[in-house]
Amino acid sequence: MDPVLNFVDGSFLPANTGLTLETINPATGAVLTTLPRSDQTDVDNATKAAMAAAPKWASTPIDERIHWLQRLADALEEEAETVAQLESMDTGKPISLALRVDATRSVANFRFFAEHGLRHEDATFISNGATNHVHRKPVGVVGLITPWNLPLYLLTWKVAPALLMGNAIVAKPSELTPLTANHLAKVMHRIGFPPGVFNLVHGLGHEVGQAIVEHADIRAISFTGGTATGKIVAATAAPLFKKISLELGGKNATIVLKDAPFDDMMEGIVRASFTNSGQVCLCGSRLLVHASIYEAFREKFVAAVEGIVVGDPQIETTVMGSVISKEHQAKVESYIDLGIEEGGVVLTGGKACDAPVQGVPASAAFLRPTVFEGLSHEARTAREEIFGPVVTLHAFQTEEEAIAIANATQYGLAGSVWTGDVERGHAFAQRLETGIVWVNTWLNRDLRTPFGGVKDSGVGREGGDWSMNFFSELTNICVQQP
Ligand code: NAD
Repeated sequence: MDPVLNFVDGSFLPANTGLTLETINPATGAVLTTLPRSDQTDVDNATKAAMAAAPKWASTPIDERIHWLQRLADALEEEAETVAQLESMDTGKPISLALRVDATRSVANFRFFAEHGLRHEDATFISNGATNHVHRKPVGVVGLITPWNLPLYLLTWKVAPALLMGNAIVAKPSELTPLTANHLAKVMHRIGFPPGVFNLVHGLGHEVGQAIVEHADIRAISFTGGTATGKIVAATAAPLFKKISLELGGKNATIVLKDAPFDDMMEGIVRASFTNSGQVCLCGSRLLVHASIYEAFREKFVAAVEGIVVGDPQIETTVMGSVISKEHQAKVESYIDLGIEEGGVVLTGGKACDAPVQGVPASAAFLRPTVFEGLSHEARTAREEIFGPVVTLHAFQTEEEAIAIANATQYGLAGSVWTGDVERGHAFAQRLETGIVWVNTWLNRDLRTPFGGVKDSGVGREGGDWSMNFFSELTNICVQQP
């Protein structure tokens, strides 16, 4: 595979120092290729290119910008198979998941924001004999920083609205998963997207990410990643008075009420627990089940989890691939050790050496889906974000208790409630301290809706109008009627 390069002012370039990093396929342990280990100079060059391109892009009529989003959607759609292959190799996720979710959603992000832009009308308010016209202007150059779990999906979720609103971009994907961002740059190059409007700088977070957040000419930062990194980003950006959007970690609860027809819901609950090896910020890693159905539920749940096909991501029927890296595997295993120390019982799964996946090389980062019971909801295993295929089961007696357990965490991203009575589920959902709650479904996304967390799960919302608001500056012009 060709080396990944930075994309600056429409050209593919190595880091100015010539330094590189390696990207590894975690499902085999093989090195896929190298990427630039860029530094502040590369960020400066990308920002200069973005600054130079920004005025023309900002004054490009919105219809024309929308047309570019549509062309990007079409071009990515034609290459969906390639995108899915690259994403699967870089992350270790099954090819079927990469195609169904990552490749498809990346196209949908461009299409959605193109259509959203077409439908959008700026607001006007009339009062006191005057008309207020709310005008949107681009922010200028914006910095987009993204994680490894849904690499192109999350990058395009930011790129599309940023372009729609007329901004120029300096983006940094995770150093663990640079391939699909690189592919997006190649697609832009191929279709003749205006040079300098989208720039990509690869490298390490504390070098490239930090330089983007610190750069005086980058006026907004949209960051998705861990809470600890989000704190650094916030501390760096706040004194510079940048706009910031922080989409951070979670420790989401899946709550099964006593009237839930859980047999019918099991597929959804298992998906909520283990999609992408539990490496989706929205996965439910704490499963709270009403005591009256706990034992029956546990039996069915464990059986369903044991039915998940774990193995080679390249095989069409594989449901769960590897985790992102050997380092991450070790982190997740340290939580499995901790769970046992804290008094938990492993019902299925466990460390790779206890529950090996047959047919995968020792250099690969595989874990089986792991279910704990017997842990206090206050245990660290049940409170801290593991971001892997580990779920803790807890019984509750009353809905009050379930609410208290669900809310007793520093995080507040998402949750799901499963019940036979949707009104009861809706009322319950309103009491959860999270930005998103699903009732009898999970990861069912309408891209017009607000997406984001409360507490340590983030600041701000993205999606639909919320993304448009973030990526624009609003000016109100109040005109007195003659
Ligand atoms: P991470 O915080 O380690 O890295 C995220 C990005 O930030 C990477 O590109 C990284 O290089 C960069 N970075 C690291 N240090 C930086 C710094 N000092 N300044 C600027 N950028 C820096 O997160 P990760 O391990 O890549 O991703 C997993 C985390 O992301 C989990 O906590 C998960 O919950 C979270 N996540 C949240 C959402 C959401 O929408 N809320 C979505 C996906 C993932």
